[in-house]
Amino acid sequence: TYSWDRETIQLMQTLIPKESLLFIADAKITFDSFRGSMVATVNSRSIITVNPGKKPQQHLQKHNIRWNETPEDSITDVYTVRQLKQKAQENPEAFFGITYSFISKLDLDSSVSKVIRTRCSRCKFLVPEDMSCTNQLCPGRDQVFSAATCFDLLVDLSDHTGTLQACHLRSPMAEKTLGCTVKEFTSLTDDKRTKMKWRLLLERCKIYVKVVPSAKIKTGVRGTILACSLADPGEVKQHMSALLQH
Ligand SMILES: [Zn+2]
Repeated sequence: TYSWDRETIQLMQTLIPKESLLFIADAKITFDSFRGSMVATVNSRSIITVNPGKKPQQHLQKHNIRWNETPEDSITDVYTVRQLKQKAQENPEAFFGITYSFISKLDLDSSVSKVIRTRCSRCKFLVPEDMSCTNQLCPGRDQVFSAATCFDLLVDLSDHTGTLQACHLRSPMAEKTLGCTVKEFTSLTDDKRTKMKWRLLLERCKIYVKVVPSAKIKTGVRGTILACSLADPGEVKQHMSALLQH
């Protein structure tokens, strides 16, 4: 879980202490021995609402998220790629969905530095080449730097309606999708990496995505893969015929 991606950091910088109220769906609550208290950690699955008003429950219902469930249990809306993009254009809020699509671009055999990134193990900030953490707010700034390596891939998702470019596939979802750990991956031969890539590439997958509209990026949409597995052909047929009727 990555507690501090850039998006979250930027959001946090806009908050006013003792004034902003945060409503967070799907946060991890753990005891932090450094702070001596319970802390909430957010990751790519979390939905953060600033000053949600008096009815946060509506927000939860809108996203179909219930407490104590992983998004895979509660995400039920199926979209084509074009519908995902359309919804992102019409609606500035993040949303979740399922798409039965193909991974049409997966650069596993490019340089390892494009596939695996190093992060500070305390605050999860991206760190260039095993240097020290550059996050001013890192809780471990006075301590010995410790790094964690993780997958950080960009993949394209395609179906008959279009392509959603540069979706994030990160640890720990990447490990599940690829079926190997970062350590195992780094010791694979180029040949094995290419084989791994073709096992997934151009296979119809059932993909759970979080879609975040973003004016800052060229495509206007940032997709993050929450889960990905080979799709059941019967299930695909059922959903595709339903989608084609609209
Ligand atoms: Zn750090």
